[in-house]
Order: sequence, then structure tokens, then C-alpha cells
Amino acid sequence: MSNKSIKVTGIPASEGIGIGKAHVIISPRVRVYYQYILEPIAVQKEIERFEKALKETENHFRSLKEKFEEFFENQVYLFETYLMILKDKAIRDNTKKIIETEHVNAEWALMKSMENIRQMFSQIEDPYIKSRIEDVETVVERIIRHLPRESNSGVNNNFIAPAKKRVIIVARELSPLDTTELDISKVMGFITELGGKTGHTAIVAQSLDIPAVVGLSGILNYVKDGDLLIVDGIKGEVIINPDETELENYHEKQYTYERTKATITRKAHLPAITVDGKRVLVKANIEFLEEVVSAKTNGCEGIGLYRTEFLYLRSRAIPSEEELFDDYRQVVELMDPLPVTLRTLDIGGDKFTSKPNLSRETNPALGLRAIRFCLKEQGVFRSQLRAILRASAYGNVRIMFPMISGLEELLAAKAILESVKEELKSQDIKYAQDIKLGIMVEVPSAVTLADVLAPEVDFFSIGTNDLIQYALAIDRVNELVAEMYKPFHPAILRMLRSLVKVADTYGIELSVCGEMAGDRLCIPLLIGAGIKELSMNPKSIPIAKEIIRSLNWEEEKANFVRLMAMRTAEEIKEELEKRYGIEKQ
Ligand code: PEP
Ligand code: MG
Repeated sequence: MSNKSIKVTGIPASEGIGIGKAHVIISPRVRVYYQYILEPIAVQKEIERFEKALKETENHFRSLKEKFEEFFENQVYLFETYLMILKDKAIRDNTKKIIETEHVNAEWALMKSMENIRQMFSQIEDPYIKSRIEDVETVVERIIRHLPRESNSGVNNNFIAPAKKRVIIVARELSPLDTTELDISKVMGFITELGGKTGHTAIVAQSLDIPAVVGLSGILNYVKDGDLLIVDGIKGEVIINPDETELENYHEKQYTYERTKATITRKAHLPAITVDGKRVLVKANIEFLEEVVSAKTNGCEGIGLYRTEFLYLRSRAIPSEEELFDDYRQVVELMDPLPVTLRTLDIGGDKFTSKPNLSRETNPALGLRAIRFCLKEQGVFRSQLRAILRASAYGNVRIMFPMISGLEELLAAKAILESVKEELKSQDIKYAQDIKLGIMVEVPSAVTLADVLAPEVDFFSIGTNDLIQYALAIDRVNELVAEMYKPFHPAILRMLRSLVKVADTYGIELSVCGEMAGDRLCIPLLIGAGIKELSMNPKSIPIAKEIIRSLNWEEEKANFVRLMAMRTAEEIKEELEKRYGIEKQ
């Protein structure tokens, strides 16, 4: 091989090793170069041309939605959003009006409507809604691509060329739509200049089990179409035009990785029992009904956390009791007899909603969030509780309240639950009589008051994502302080230990459902602390079970005591890395 190989490091976004030729997508975007003025007689024809493009774009989205349903169950809502945008007056009617009054070509009129929409969005404060402008842009771009091409239509129509052989996709970034338009069966890896661990490329690559490295700044300057690439999605490395030795090493690594993964996947449905015979329950966290399939195929032993707010966030209005009931009933029936823990609405904080009164808080994470919101907006809360209770007649339901900070809140929420039960009883509506009730322990005051809260519930689930945020005063979504967000902080270890003690004393169940539960390095730590149930992202279940199988409960317990004696997060982390020989990503 004549070229010298180049190694670049980015962010590991989806595990695995891909080896293949580069397929560079330089600019999937369409640009409109100029406008042209129509003869009055041509105006009606131009409107028809635009309407035809709208129809074709709609058909295109519908067919991609079907394809999407197969691959990325939890992302289908994106297409619903696109279809909704496509129907919006700001695009349809405005563009037609511009063609009609200004006698310009449809592409130009559409870009003008887009400019107006951009202006409107620039006034919006809510960062979540503001970021939705990207969806509008994607839709507009697709309409332009569907405008039948004429020699002077003013469009540089640059589709993503379909890959003919199996390739590694190289791009600046990939929009959700870009990824669905690729023939996924031909993709062996993704590398992008932009993006992070939780960005869209990462999510899609993970759900498809395709290796990906993102955040490779400037990669498009090094890679040409047809270059041989190695994508190491475990370490976050990309080798461009590898030499013989590198290639050989990586073929071997790829083989070992695939073989280990196959073994782990085969054992995903078996229970996770430590070397010395202790069983640890491994459940799944889901955000949408569609994820139940992935949770089950990955061997979950129940749903430990259903983040029910996502159904609210993807709808324009608050969903009706019937819609909620229909969704919950399906999840519960699909999982039956395994338990489904439905967490009541955790809206607010980093989970934005379009409700204006929720988005203007100075400190949303400390504001009207989760149970606080529900206790204030009791109509919303009661309707969700009715839906959950009704669904309980169809399987094994558990109810969990988020963000409980003290006894008053818990008692108030319980009183509402009881009153909703009474209401259903008086209406002769069936619900399960033995529903277990629990709380998320994610506010430090709930840890301190655990002994006061425990007698009131059947279980605690530790939400480490928020517990770390609130205990260490580190905003979980602020990149400036991301380095200080430390799961291994000794204060967190002490909190875990004290919760285990309280749960044991009061004989209630205790689980962890924050990100720590699925983290390779944290699992031994949690087991050592005495946690017997973990709930995590479905994809992490097989490997988490395998890690548990390799541990000795008694040894981890002893090790945890040693870790507890350490004074800094760094020391603890180093010790864990040394002990388990895992490089933390
Ligand atoms: C948590 O806080 O750890 C948790 C599981 O809930 P969420 O991430 O939805 O806030
Ligand atoms: Mg939380």
C-alpha cells in the first residue's frame, strides 16, 4: 500500500469495528441559486407544480416512515413531525401566495417562506422549540427536491448518491432523514465531522448496531471517496488507508469482537447470576411503546422505568386519557407477566414542553418539574393516573413518582392516587388491586429522609442522573461543567450505601435506573453497594448481564468498603479502572 496511513480520534458513538471503502457525502443539501419571474399565464401551472411536489414529498415521508418503523422503532415520531410541518400553512399557503402575488418560481417562493419561518423562530425563547427549525429546513429541502426539474428551475439538486457496494459513510453530519434515505444494508460504518455521543447519528448507529465515530473535526479534508477506512467505534478511532499490519490487526479485533458479542447476545435471555450465586434483576428503561420490542429481544426482566413524558413531548397538545391508556395498555400487555414501572409525568427541567409557562423559568431543573408540576396541574395528573390504573387491569403495573423531595409531596401524590382509584371504583372501571407504588430517589433530601419515605412505599428507584446533578450542583446538560459530573464521587457512594441500608431495614425493593446502571465500570460498584436490581437502556442489557456473571458478590462488597474509604472521585475511578481493566469511554 503506497499511502501512509492516518489515524484520527473522535468520539466513540456506536460500538463495533467496520472496515471498508469510504463513501463521502459532501453536501446533501439543496441550494436555490436564483429566482425567475413567471409570465402571468404560467402562475397557475407553477402552483400545480408546487402542489404536486408537496404530494410527492408526503408520499416519500410516508414510505420512509414505514421503512423507519422496521429499523428505528423509537424514532418514528420524527416522520409524524415532518408530515405535520408539511401540512403547515406557513409553508403551504404562504408559498402559494408568494407565487401568486410575486409571480416567482416555486423554489424561490418556498425559500422566501422559509425565511419568514426562520424569523418567527428567532423570536422563540424555548431552546427545544427553537431547535425544531432544523426539522422545518429538512422538510423544505425535501419539497424542493421533489419539484419536477426544469432547465431553469434554479435548483442545484444534489441527492445523496445511493451506495452500490457496502461502504463506510463519511459526512459532515447526517440528519435523521439522510440516514433513512441510505440503503442501510450497505452501510458498514458511519463517521462524521460533527455530532456527539447522544446526537442523531449515534442514536441511529446504535439502534442498527453499526460502528460509528463522530466529532471528527476536519475529517472531510483527509478522506476521499474510495479510501480504505477502519472505524473503531469502541475506541473512537478512524484509520485512513491502513497499512498491512494495521489491517491484519483490525481484522483480528473485528473477529474477536463479533464472536464475543454473539456469545453475549446468545446469553441475553438467561438470568444474571454472580459467580457466587446472587441474582441481579436487569430491567429496561424505555421512552416509547415501540421500544418494548428491543427491550424484550435484549433480554430484559421487566420495564424498570417507562419515561412517560415522551408521549406528551411528541404531541402538540396534552394527550387524552384514551390515548395514554391505549399506549400503556399495549406496553403492559406486551410485557405481561413481567412488570412495567410507569413513572408519572416528569415534565419540565431539561424535558421541555411547548407550554409557555413551563419554558420561561430561570432555573428549570429547580423549577416546576415532575411531581411538582403534577401536584399543581392536577387535571393532567389525574388523567394520567386514570390511564395507568385502567392499564393495570391488563398486566403487571407498578407506579413510580419522580422527584419526590419530602413526605408532604409523597403523601399529596398518594392521596390523589387514592382518590382516582375511588373514582374508578365508583364508575365500575377495573384496575389491579395490588399495584406496587414507588418513588424515584433523585433529590438529595429524599436520601436524607429515606427512612421517613420508605414506610410509605413498596420500592425506591435511584435516579442517579438527577441525584448526581442535585447532590454535586452540576447541571446535567451544561457542557461547561460536564467534567465535574462525577458518578464516582465519594458523596454519591455514601448516598448509595445509606439507601441500601434503609431499604434493607424497611424491607422495600431498591433499584438503580439512572445511566450508572448500564455503565460497565459502575455495575461492579453498584453490585458492591448491595443493589440487586438495575434498569437501563435496552441495548446495554446483554453486556450488563455478562458483567454481572463475571462478578463475585462478596468480593465486590469488600471492594466497595475499600472504595468508600477513598476521598476523591479520581481515586475511586482509577481503582475501578485498574481492577476491571476497562477503559472508561
Ligand atoms: C434519573 O434522573 O436518573 C432518571 C433515571 O430519570 P431521568 O433521566 O428521566 O431524569
Ligand atoms: Mg430524573
